[in-house]
Amino acid sequence: MATNHIAGILDHIDPQIRAILYHALEGAELSWQDGLQLCQANGIDFHAVCLVADEMRRRQVGEVVTYVVNRNINFTNVCIKHCTFCAFSREYREEEGYFLPEEEIVRRAQEAVDMGATEVCMQAGLPPKMNGSLYIDLTRAVKKAFPDLHIHAFSPEEVLYGSLRSGVSILDYVRELKNAGLDTLPGTSAEILDQEIRDIIAPGRISTKQWIEVITSAHSLGIPTTSTIMYGHIETPEHWVKHMNLLRDIQKETRGFTEFVPLSLIHQEAPMYQRKLVKGVREGATGVEVIKMHAIARLMLGPTFRNIQSSWVKEGPKLSQYLLTVGANDLGGTLINESISTSAGAQYGQLVPPKELRRLVRDVGRTPAERSTTYKLRTVFNGTDDKLSPLDMVENADEQFGSYRRLAASDQFRYVHPFERDKHETAH
Ligand code: SF4
Repeated sequence: MATNHIAGILDHIDPQIRAILYHALEGAELSWQDGLQLCQANGIDFHAVCLVADEMRRRQVGEVVTYVVNRNINFTNVCIKHCTFCAFSREYREEEGYFLPEEEIVRRAQEAVDMGATEVCMQAGLPPKMNGSLYIDLTRAVKKAFPDLHIHAFSPEEVLYGSLRSGVSILDYVRELKNAGLDTLPGTSAEILDQEIRDIIAPGRISTKQWIEVITSAHSLGIPTTSTIMYGHIETPEHWVKHMNLLRDIQKETRGFTEFVPLSLIHQEAPMYQRKLVKGVREGATGVEVIKMHAIARLMLGPTFRNIQSSWVKEGPKLSQYLLTVGANDLGGTLINESISTSAGAQYGQLVPPKELRRLVRDVGRTPAERSTTYKLRTVFNGTDDKLSPLDMVENADEQFGSYRRLAASDQFRYVHPFERDKHETAH
């Protein structure tokens, strides 16, 4: 059912768009073809799509907007792959390669706990000749030190690499991670789940089939994951909606996705753009594309996913705040250290403190709440005199927590290839 003010607007729009939006308002599932038609909406039709997305957000999740207090630990930038959208990775021969040892990772987790974080998010490059048990050992070490800290770690690409390096199946590797203390997996390395697109933008990257295998293996073991899309490069709206359709099919089977996170390409430093490695690559998504992506995600995925996240890292605080009015209900994490988008040219820093996230939420007339990684509400901030957290007092995040640029430039944690290390040890 449409409320009166929405019905009044729908009376004036394109009849085909109107029929699809009424369908959504009645709680029916939109096909990918419906979603594709909504992608073409402009003018008043576009505004109607946004209005209905906001209405569905209100019905599905209410007025609370969530965030999580977390810290990213990107423990190495050395990687054997060459994804053309990635400005973060370094080859092992390059000067800027770093590798954080286990003690440093645990120290960073300690700092996160001291700052009130409930989650660490660990993702990194794929270092050559990696010991297959690395991810399991790291998980165990962090969990042993901080049993209550939620470990959200290892992209499907990393899980696949760990399983290959260990010579075990994906399912067995994920089980080992779970036994070591892994709580959830990031549903990153999805980009566009279309093999032709993947073969152009990242040849040799985890395939669509393998991505699905990692995700469904995790879900089958009771490990929730996020889900993502990377857009604004060479894909078309048809890829968006087919990608959402695929994720929705998985969700209906497993119920294992916690949220959908659209991530627009940060193009400035991405090799695909800067070195013209991919023909026809766009300069990231336009503002209208970003808005359409979130609104259509709410309409297609809202009933089964519930949570649509807007990313301040990719869109900046201002646009990510606006996205709360077109279907999004979550602002992601505080992050503390952000390396991947920063290295690609994002300008939004590496930390947004909780009080700033709450300000953005209140400014659109909604209620902020801190959540757990799996969307359990920890604190709902109904009043205006919130107690400040240690992160709210941080004056200079780069000084206090270090930055990607300083880490890559410093020799403190310089990466040494296993061959070099072996040579060095033999010589002594
Ligand atoms: S996206 Fe990941 S796998 Fe690809 S090059 Fe970057 S760090 Fe390596």
